[in-house]
Amino acid sequence: MIEVERSWEDLTDWQRSLREQFPIITAHPDLAYLDSAATSQKPRAVLEAVREYLVGGNANAGRGTYPWANATTAMVERARERVKAFLGDPEPGRSSVHFVSGTTEGLRRIALDWLTELLDDGDEIVAPFADHQANLSPWLEARDALARRGVGVRVVEMPRQAGSGDYDTEALAGVVGPRTRFVALTHVHHVYGGDMNVHRVREAVGPDAVVCLDAAQSVGHLPVSVAELDVDFVVFSGHKALALPGTGAVWARRARGPRFSPSGWDGTPNTVGIASLATALDWLDAAGLERIDRWCAGLAARLTEGLLELAAFEVLGCQLSLAGDSPVQRRASIVAFRHERIDSGDLGFVLYSHGFMVRSDSHCQAGAEPGDGSVRVSLHVYNTVEEVDGLLAVLREL
Ligand code: PMP
Repeated sequence: MIEVERSWEDLTDWQRSLREQFPIITAHPDLAYLDSAATSQKPRAVLEAVREYLVGGNANAGRGTYPWANATTAMVERARERVKAFLGDPEPGRSSVHFVSGTTEGLRRIALDWLTELLDDGDEIVAPFADHQANLSPWLEARDALARRGVGVRVVEMPRQAGSGDYDTEALAGVVGPRTRFVALTHVHHVYGGDMNVHRVREAVGPDAVVCLDAAQSVGHLPVSVAELDVDFVVFSGHKALALPGTGAVWARRARGPRFSPSGWDGTPNTVGIASLATALDWLDAAGLERIDRWCAGLAARLTEGLLELAAFEVLGCQLSLAGDSPVQRRASIVAFRHERIDSGDLGFVLYSHGFMVRSDSHCQAGAEPGDGSVRVSLHVYNTVEEVDGLLAVLREL
């Protein structure tokens, strides 16, 4: 195998020093948390930022004029700039950041507050029919809302390659046409774990279509650069990127279509969540996204390779986890698999009896049928080679 495996040797000390910064991980040495795609654990810096904010000067944002209120307003504005910098925004003066409760809310707000204003009768949306439900339902809702106003819009399926689950950008070029106004994509698939090669999509859809990226499984795991990807929206969940639950953001560039300004009265923002998010992004940048990516891809590669040696298991999605500059789809931090006879739910119970926390169901995948369950192992920087090897040892015994 591949470069990523060798990368463990030089990252081991670095990883150990980061793992020690997660109190929930060090407090439970007999447990292995392998469900970070659902939500991540929080480093001490984030826990301290939360405490500091709540003890040092908790107030509402954008309302009062006393020091705690002013400081909170300034903190929220700084956090917006922090998100832009984190996403490598080359023109922060031309973009905006809106805090939301997570990817689900962010995508729905784009669909219902913005997309419905963009589209005209006969326009088309391209959407991923086998990604997370949160990245399909909003576009269908927008279509239905427009239909009630007498505006007919079509939602077209994003073509996929059989097997890997990756998008088929060659077929995409045949699907898009002059009426394609909006393309919804996922950066890293939440079941197959593949990087969906979204950097190839702009060329296929042309310069005018708006591209919206669900980055729930990439932000916090690998460098995400809006300039390189040439996308118009990036939506992510802070709680999957080491911040508190109830946090997330929509980054919107004003290059194609109207300004994104969600309608209605926003109410009080999740100030403590936003404080946690800004600190989480600082922590991730200091740790180094490139190294986090290398570590998690390395663990995922080891797990994939181990599973491929066990005849009773089927690994979903791409079978290899190649290095980043490969033209072949690479696996990020997620590996989903099933056993030929043992139900995935039962497998989840067996694994927890050995201390491994995994997710076993159909993972909110759009279009999933009742029999489509799998066990999903999802990794973050606090996970170790020993945890992956321990999990494989249990699976080998089955
Ligand atoms: N998109 C993807 C790819 C996801 O993995 C998830 C969470 N599993 C979501 C969207 C929804 O995120 P949230 O529940 O934080 O809104």
